[in-house]
This record gives sequence, C-alpha cells and structure tokens, in this order.
Amino acid sequence: MPSGKTFFDPWEGAGESRRRRVIRERLADYVRYARGRVPFYRDRLAGFRPRAEHPLAGVPVLESAELRKLLPPLNTRLVADRSSGWTVFQSGGTTGSPKTALFSHAEMEALYLPNARGFHAAGLRRGDRVANLFAVGGLYMTFLHIHRALERFGCANFPFSNHTAPDYVHGCARRFGINCMTGIASVTLDCLRGMEALGLKGIRIEKLYYGGEHLYDSDKAELRERFGVREIAAPGYGTVDTWYIGYQCSACPTGVFHAHDDQCHIEIFDESEGRYCAPGSAGMLYATALPRRLTPIVRYRVGDRARWLGRPCPCGRTTPLFELLGRGDDVLRVGFDSVDYGSIQACVKRVAGLLGSAQMQKYRESGRDRLVVRVETRAPIRARPALAARLAAAILARRPTLSRAVAQKSVWPVRVELLDAGRLPRNPRTGKLVRVVDDR
Ligand SMILES: [Zn+2]
Repeated sequence: MPSGKTFFDPWEGAGESRRRRVIRERLADYVRYARGRVPFYRDRLAGFRPRAEHPLAGVPVLESAELRKLLPPLNTRLVADRSSGWTVFQSGGTTGSPKTALFSHAEMEALYLPNARGFHAAGLRRGDRVANLFAVGGLYMTFLHIHRALERFGCANFPFSNHTAPDYVHGCARRFGINCMTGIASVTLDCLRGMEALGLKGIRIEKLYYGGEHLYDSDKAELRERFGVREIAAPGYGTVDTWYIGYQCSACPTGVFHAHDDQCHIEIFDESEGRYCAPGSAGMLYATALPRRLTPIVRYRVGDRARWLGRPCPCGRTTPLFELLGRGDDVLRVGFDSVDYGSIQACVKRVAGLLGSAQMQKYRESGRDRLVVRVETRAPIRARPALAARLAAAILARRPTLSRAVAQKSVWPVRVELLDAGRLPRNPRTGKLVRVVDDR
C-alpha cells in the first residue's frame, strides 16, 4: 500500500481541512500582493471574496490577448519589479505572434518543486540516466528548467535537446546506459524510432516522460511492445503563461492529472452556463499562478478544457484529479460535426498496423467540407489501401453526424492518406507533430 513516504512532499498526502485552509491563505496572500504591487490589479481584484466558496468568481477573466498587451515588448504594466533581472521566453510562434513570458531567476528555481513532484510520482529515481530531449533555443523554456531539475533530483543528466540526431543519442545510450528519456511526446517517439533503425542491442529505455502534447494509447502500446518501456507518464502539465498546473502518477491514464493545487489556484468554469463545473462536467480551465511574483497572473484563461474527476486516485495522493480535454483548436468543424483530434486517435488505435502519429485537416472543395486524415505506418504499400479503407469506415462508424452528411452528399467522403513513419510535418522549432490543420 502506498504511504506518505512514497510521495515527494507532504502536500500530496495532506488532509482535506489543511488543504482547504492553505489554498485559501495562499490565494488571499497572492491577491494582496498583486493589488499592492501591480496597479493593473488594484481595481480589477476588488471583487475578490476570500471567504466565498469561489473567491475569484467576481474577478474578470484574464485572456491571452489582454495578457500580451500588458507584457514586454509592448508594455511593462504587469511587471511588479522592473529593476530585477528576468529571463524572456517565447512560445507558440507557429500561428500569429509569439507569446512572451518573463520569469525571475527565483521563479525558474522554484519550478523544481512541481518538476520533482511530477517526476517522482511518475517513477523517476535518483541515479536514473536521463536523456533530455526537450526543445531548446529560440527562447523556448522547458529544456532549461528540466535540465536544472534533473541535476537537483540527482540524475545522470544528458542534455541532448531536440536538436540532436537519433544516431548520436543512440551511441550515448549504449555507452552510458541511458535508461530514461524525457521530451515532447512526438520528438521522443521519433528519436526512439530512429534509434531502432540502428538496432537496439545493448540499449534499454525503461522510462519515458513526455510533455507538450498527449501521448495516445496507440503510441503507448508501441512504446511498451516494441521498445519495452515500462513507465510512461507526463510528469507535468502547464503553460508558459501560468505555471505547472498538474502532474501524472503511474496510475494516471492519458490526459488525467493530479492538480498542483498549492501551486495554482485552479477553476473549471462552464462559460455557456455561467457557472462552476461540478465533477464530471467539462469547462474552461482558469489558473491563478501563485508562484508568479514578477508578473502576477490572476484568473488566466488557459485555453484548455478540463473536468474534475471527483474520485480519489489509487496511488493515495490527495491532490485532486482532473482530466484535460484538449484545446479548442484541437477540433475541426466538418459540416455540422465537430471532429476532435482525440476521437480520430481512438479510431486509429482500433486499426492494427497504423502508428499513433496522425494528423487531421479540413478542406473546402467546391462548396463542401472534406476531412482528410493522414497517418504514419510501417505497413507495405500494397497493404495500405485496405488499411485506409478500414480507418475511414471506423471514423464514419463512430461519427453519425458526419456519416449522415457524407450519405446526403453535403460533405465529401473522408480521405485517409497513409505515409511512412516520420513523414508527417513537424513544427520546425519544437519538433512537435502538426496534428490539426484547418484550411479555413
Ligand atoms: Zn495518483
């Protein structure tokens, strides 16, 4: 049975009353700090009700576009201490202008707690030999604090980043006995596939810790069956605009996280109904990033949908569970159907012979929508037409609205294209698979 000693820190096993009291105190302290130090928040946080069930209910939601206007390079209105040093990060440069975030040096170091808590819960131990494949350069953030966390945690640390070719990682893995890899899900998987092509004799990757995107069940099956990986988890879910919000333990299925509820005050809000979500119902995630003192972040609309699970985790941690349901932009509107990427993944998993790397795209052709799904495979060319037909049928079988529209000829039939492994486009900066393309 798990005991308190198996957790990284006492907060993970804290009882309900202590949990409530500490969260309330920290939130009140944070709001006081933000109002006192940042003029932008002085009136904005006047609706804070420290004793209410939802203390931030009367506070406006901070949207991404508004946040951009308060931060450098446009402005310093959100910066609490303009004379202190900071590190500038940018992210999300694929569409529109990149998002900037400032972290003080103390904040960078404070990321150790959620990092270590998450890696420990996912099974990392002192002495593990870890390849860090996270993206670095171009003002990208994650690699840097993961690097520092691996040092402090007591691992043998291999700072490859996403820029190192698989053959180099392959050679080091064999010579140094690397047993663990961490990085963006698709980058790490691609690296392992590249290493496999060179032969995995003498190499045993036991643990794989991913971030940045989901690793779907078909990918996990490949990692277990083909590469013999035992532990697969996302040790941290967070955003550069906020902080770490959640972490997985070994018992968490894809998309389910324990909340770092001492780090972020988390709200899940049903925006169409205008009320807080009960456990089980989905809403938008708002986060108040309590350790962010340089640029306080109060009630930020993260952009992801989530739901509280309202049940305890078998691991015994008392940090509550939530499920991340993906971003609004993971959905394509095809005819009258809203096709979410996760549902396409579920179909891919049902067709043996397809890899988990998949992309969906919407086209508008002669006034009608068409859903195109591209999937990587190792199947020989002659086997592919049958695989493609099987996947198209699986998609229509699970999507009655789309299926009806195709039958009525208001939407074109689904087109499935199969490609060799590694042939789908990746983001040139991060190596992330480009999963959803909307040609509107
Ligand atoms: Zn757990």
